[in-house]
Amino acid sequence: MSESPMKTRPLKAARLCASVLAAALAACGRAPAPTADADIVFEGGPIYTAADSSPKVEAVAVKGDRILAAGAKAAIDRLVGPHTEVIDLKGAALFPGFTDAHAHLFGVGMRELTLNLEGVGSVDELVDVIAANVHESKPGELIYGRGWIETGWPEGRFPSRDDLDPVSPDNPVVLVRADGHALVANSAAMKAAGVDEETPDPDGGRIEKDARGRPTGMFVDNAMSLLASLQATPSEKQKEEAYRTGAGVYAAHGWTGLHNMSVDPADVSIIDRLAASGDVPIRVYNALDKEGLDWLIENAPHTDSTGRVVTRAMKLYADGALGSRGAALTAPYSDMPDSSGLLLMHHDEAEQMLQRALRAGVQVATHAIGDRANHQMLDWYQEAFKAVPASQRKVAEPRWRIEHAQILLLGDIPRFAELGVIPSMQPSHAISDFFFAPARLGPDRLFGAYAWRSLIDAGSVIPGGSDAPVERGDPRIEFYAAVARKSLDGYSDALWHPEQKVTREEALKMFTLWPAYASFQEKDLGTIEPGKFADFTVFSKDIMTIPEADILKAAPVMTVVGGKIVYRGE
Ligand SMILES: [Zn+2]
Repeated sequence: MSESPMKTRPLKAARLCASVLAAALAACGRAPAPTADADIVFEGGPIYTAADSSPKVEAVAVKGDRILAAGAKAAIDRLVGPHTEVIDLKGAALFPGFTDAHAHLFGVGMRELTLNLEGVGSVDELVDVIAANVHESKPGELIYGRGWIETGWPEGRFPSRDDLDPVSPDNPVVLVRADGHALVANSAAMKAAGVDEETPDPDGGRIEKDARGRPTGMFVDNAMSLLASLQATPSEKQKEEAYRTGAGVYAAHGWTGLHNMSVDPADVSIIDRLAASGDVPIRVYNALDKEGLDWLIENAPHTDSTGRVVTRAMKLYADGALGSRGAALTAPYSDMPDSSGLLLMHHDEAEQMLQRALRAGVQVATHAIGDRANHQMLDWYQEAFKAVPASQRKVAEPRWRIEHAQILLLGDIPRFAELGVIPSMQPSHAISDFFFAPARLGPDRLFGAYAWRSLIDAGSVIPGGSDAPVERGDPRIEFYAAVARKSLDGYSDALWHPEQKVTREEALKMFTLWPAYASFQEKDLGTIEPGKFADFTVFSKDIMTIPEADILKAAPVMTVVGGKIVYRGE
């Protein structure tokens, strides 16, 4: 990497002054104190900048969509004019805008708009929810839900078609697991999709079968696509509604932006349009499905008319998920000795795509959970970097990412920083998965699992995300998980490897500066410094100092994007 992303440095005055409004010019370098009036001044609470040069200030002034100045209250008060709105934080804490570095905005919206199975506590309860839905549905109508997770269920097993058939003999039922990497279908759904005992496992997928070879109704990874024909593709209007809803939910959580993963290339224009109309008021950084590669080669980086939506990345999948045993491991699962998971890509096809992307300046972000998938992707990235030297690339420093990077061979940990590959990780996954990860992996592999501390110590930055709708998509949960590495009710043990947690200063960067770096936007976003966009997240409590359990009780008070208040709480 040409510039260490680990530390922020005072921006060089020359570079900054050239790039910002004339009004901000006076705030730069050794120029005289600025005289232009601020549009908004925030004061009256702790203000954390995420900038190493001056991590905490008393007040911040905004002019237009940019930060005019940040510093001592006395200095900022001199920028208050007759038209300045002075916002008293009344003790609430202000941070650079929190950005979710891995989420699915369409899925977040759809979770609100379809049958939401989050929080269902057992197979019995799931069956009751479906029975009630069948009651309200037309004969033969598909019942589609999402968000169940069997972790912690008293039955201790996946649901099956035999659970669902008695309450829904005629309506097809398809229920996607919270991680999006498995689903359970009933017999009516399997029949409608033409799946039976003879159907072979597709490449990269598994149809779960019982001891007698009969499908159980569980479909893992690529096998899920066997049921895809049952679902009508959402109309443009439904898509709009999902994106609008998702963005509203996100702004209300305190997110000023997200990295939007696995986007249908056709959705870029929809998101751009919704940003222009103000329906999507936060920042969106799009990573398209691999079908979008040609579009990206032609257009990336593509910025919409508001400047808030940037599309320049491609998302690939190397393997499945740990919970459904689809994550590709170098040795078999400890609790399923005849399986070591699923690899989803073939080398030659992938390498060709990677090299095309590298030449064209397309950022690649690959889902890799298991140690085998991560090792493979580091090898394949390395092969592409070698085959396409910097002189043949549109962007010399490609900042390619591995999404999740959950289970790593210890020897692979330093390779991320050495190759300049960014591990993009989701703290909430660790505190959800540690209830089953020891069983899946055994004690030895846990040393390289969710290894935030080891990666940071090896020189990596870790943009933090939630993977919503897989997880809740709440910045407080993510921040808490990163610094506490405990379950939401405070549980942890030695197998959770508490030594891998991060400091609060690092956690703050995971959701501010490091996502900015991982999206090539660190000159404009990620810290509170003059000249950057005025993106702020305000919480009712100072999450940098309160006891860790109280972090979850902080309320989002205000979300500010480019100097505009897009959400205001009670
Ligand atoms: Zn995801």
